[in-house]
Amino acid sequence: MKKIGIIGAMELEVEELKGKMTIQRTQEKASMEFLEGTLNGTEVVIVRSGIGKVNAALCTQILCDCFQVSHIINTGVAGSLKNEIDIGDIVVSTDALHHDVDVRVFGYPLGEVPQMGCLAFPADGHLTALAVSVCCEVNPDIKVYEGRVVSGDQFVSDKQVKDNIIKNFQGFCVEMEGASIAHAAYLNHVPFVIIRAISDKADDSAEMDYPTFEKAAAAHSASLVEHMLPKI
Ligand code: SAH
Repeated sequence: MKKIGIIGAMELEVEELKGKMTIQRTQEKASMEFLEGTLNGTEVVIVRSGIGKVNAALCTQILCDCFQVSHIINTGVAGSLKNEIDIGDIVVSTDALHHDVDVRVFGYPLGEVPQMGCLAFPADGHLTALAVSVCCEVNPDIKVYEGRVVSGDQFVSDKQVKDNIIKNFQGFCVEMEGASIAHAAYLNHVPFVIIRAISDKADDSAEMDYPTFEKAAAAHSASLVEHMLPKI
């Protein structure tokens, strides 16, 4: 039975979806409110995880253990790591990694968590392809890119930091939760995809742009998730 776990780090990333769903049950776990019900004819569990990698990982584990979700979608906003990816555009993950992990001293590549056996956690190919095709169909004015999402417990708003992340990881966008959701989903063998609309360029303009564009960007991403659901 298909049951989709939908995670947003912040309320504004999930409020629209929560408003549209039919809620059957609400449960609180780890200070997070999990809403179970249906959205667009599909069984869903929608939750605001809180910001950062620990909150997001905890939330993902709870979705797997307590709600037995069959798929996980992360919706939200992110900073762009490519000149051509502009504010309002959407990035759909091919894979995700932690840009703030560094155990090079023991021979691991930058970003790799020791003894995991992989640097980046691959997203589900079907979910990624579906997100891209549904985006082209329902949001023809929004450009959609498929690529790597990189995450760390850091808001990137400095050109130097951004350039280093680009050089080291070839990411398409940077945010603070995707890799830990990917990591937890990978360990639980649950297919996932991360969908992020761009709120800023992760450089010195980010502090100004982010508050201006976060709401509209969050809505772009949420609308894509809503339209994907019946096709999963
Ligand atoms: N405005 C919030 C904090 C937002 S932190 C407050 O005051 O409490 C930024 C959030 O947006 C995170 O959830 C992260 O995933 C995403 N994000 C958007 N742009 C980002 C960037 N440039 N660097 C890191 N995370 C970014």
